[in-house]
Amino acid sequence: MHVSAAQGRGLRTAAGAQLVDFSSNDYLGLARHPALAEAMAGCARQRGAGSGASHLVTGHGAEHEALEAELAAFTGRERALLFSTGYMANLAVLASLAGRGTGILLDRLSHASLLDGARLAGARLTRFAHANADDAARRAGEATRLIGTDGVFSMDGDLAPLPQLAELARARDAWLVVDDAHGLGVVGPGGRGTLAHFGLGSAEVPVLVGTLGKAFGSFGAFVAGDATLIEFLVQKARPYIYTTALPQPVAAASRAALRLLVTEPERQARLQGNIARFRTRAAEAGIALTPSATPIQPVVLGTSAAALAAQRQLAARGYCVMAIRPPTVPAGSARLRITLAATHTPAEIDGLIAALAAALPP
Ligand SMILES: *Cc1c(COP(=O)(O)O)cnc(C)c1O
Repeated sequence: MHVSAAQGRGLRTAAGAQLVDFSSNDYLGLARHPALAEAMAGCARQRGAGSGASHLVTGHGAEHEALEAELAAFTGRERALLFSTGYMANLAVLASLAGRGTGILLDRLSHASLLDGARLAGARLTRFAHANADDAARRAGEATRLIGTDGVFSMDGDLAPLPQLAELARARDAWLVVDDAHGLGVVGPGGRGTLAHFGLGSAEVPVLVGTLGKAFGSFGAFVAGDATLIEFLVQKARPYIYTTALPQPVAAASRAALRLLVTEPERQARLQGNIARFRTRAAEAGIALTPSATPIQPVVLGTSAAALAAQRQLAARGYCVMAIRPPTVPAGSARLRITLAATHTPAEIDGLIAALAAALPP
């Protein structure tokens, strides 16, 4: 299956049928917004396609500089540092802030890149029960140096108990790292993310990781925090130092997305409306959902076979929803991962509900 560029919001199957896409992380519908395409093209004409070197050599350009300043302002932090991907940002943060012999505590359902970061750090990794700060407190020890979690969980759509984790991190004198890949642009006032939702700042959550390939509709990632933290990462983080800087046109597209986020908040409002409509209609149709208030709305089916069968039936009815299976999710919790976007119409949501009601096992 590949994305049909002409149609914009749809996916075309190998057989040529057009599917309504309920599987993307492009929550605000910005990935194909003309303002991003124009920013990218204009910047490429002016500054070229590639950055030519790493940030610390000669790859750091005016668009990077401007985007970092704008992301720092958006997140209310002193500085932001760009990374090529969220995966690399998490490797960088964990390997830089925790070392061999120290302890890292991660939520059991944290993103794979946080787990791999703990491995790269050579730290002792302990996982706590999902979204359970009491369990995290029980498992914390003298050596605990860093506590990490997603803000919004990518396969469940629920939020981490950030106020309680911040309390624990403070008591343990440990770093708290929040990966808000699915929260920024979507959750909290002005789409400022899960931290804004809880009213938490740099003092409570010193390390914020954000990505630009989801609600921002672009590509790349950043870490935002105090100037001393960012300077430390610049000096120490190998996934920052030893890699080519993100192309400037990509940074220009992210800047365009950020401008739209701030100046046109109606996208977030439409997305919230679509989430509410989906949940109301699902309840009316007797479809069991999890308590997610975000665009990620899983329908847990149990076996991989059941999830795949439902995916096929939905495709036959014109909807692209992907089955997510172990090891991406815990054994026995294979699911349909439905994602809503600001660009879905009421008719598309109602149509998906009807198709789900027909496709799901009774
Ligand atoms: C997607 C995602 C990442 C990785 O970001 P990329 O920019 O795609 O590498 C990291 N953390 C979470 C929670 C994600 O969902």
